[in-house]
Amino acid sequence: AEAQLRQAQKMEAVGQLTGGIAHDFNNMLAVVLGGIELAKRNLPEDAGDAARHIDNAAEGASRAAALTRQLLGFARSEALAPEAIEPGELIAGMSNLLDRTLGEGISVETRCESAGWHVWADRVQLENALLNLAVNARDAMDGRGTLTISCGHVPLDGDHGGACAPGDYVRLSVTDTGSGMSKEVMERVFEPFFTTKPVGKGTGLGLSQIFGFVRQSGGEVVIDSAVGEGTTVTMLLPCHAAKTDESAAPERIGPQGAP
Ligand code: ADP
Repeated sequence: AEAQLRQAQKMEAVGQLTGGIAHDFNNMLAVVLGGIELAKRNLPEDAGDAARHIDNAAEGASRAAALTRQLLGFARSEALAPEAIEPGELIAGMSNLLDRTLGEGISVETRCESAGWHVWADRVQLENALLNLAVNARDAMDGRGTLTISCGHVPLDGDHGGACAPGDYVRLSVTDTGSGMSKEVMERVFEPFFTTKPVGKGTGLGLSQIFGFVRQSGGEVVIDSAVGEGTTVTMLLPCHAAKTDESAAPERIGPQGAP
């Protein structure tokens, strides 16, 4: 819990700095991209090499824009807009996007047993987090393996030792059959800009962004990993109070008692 707090403070400082830079950068990039677009449209038929140079510039600028978007997301100047989300539906709605992201060599399994419990979280951020986890899983599996998305209802009591308050949570886990992480990597994964990926592939912001979002939503992130076997990243997010099907209620432990 102590380490998590220190991490949160570090994230806040880096977030403020990055957010300011990314914001200004984004405005300037909009000018660059707009100029490139105009130049392209006004190019004569026989422009020769110029067309290729312009395309290269456009590609570079687009990449820079994608990075600043990610930085802005990490700094998150916009407030979260939480709503009640049924995790099974959310994941089903993302299945096409996930298939396209993961490629043919990776099969996707989903096991959602949240028994009617809803997550209370920002939908866009949550989708983004799941997509980020899927991309990490894909990279760790080198294009071949199985990705499992599972969810469940987790009642936490007061002394579970994590960052969450006692109460009902929904667990959303992404498991891969990839490389796993060494202890050294595990210790640093939530650090902003920590990446083991080649330049241009990783930014090191995926997990720190997820950490920030989940913490801000009142939850916590737990990672389980074994080198050569794979990794499970679990997001514990607070439940929305409403629950539809009482008969499906799992056993409740801890001091909370009946709802
Ligand atoms: P990025 O993906 O841009 O590197 P992240 O913050 O998402 O940034 O991840 C940081 C690092 O954590 C990765 O570079 C990788 O070394 C490690 N990592 C993250 N997810 C996994 C995973 N599922 N399996 C193995 N290593 C992972």
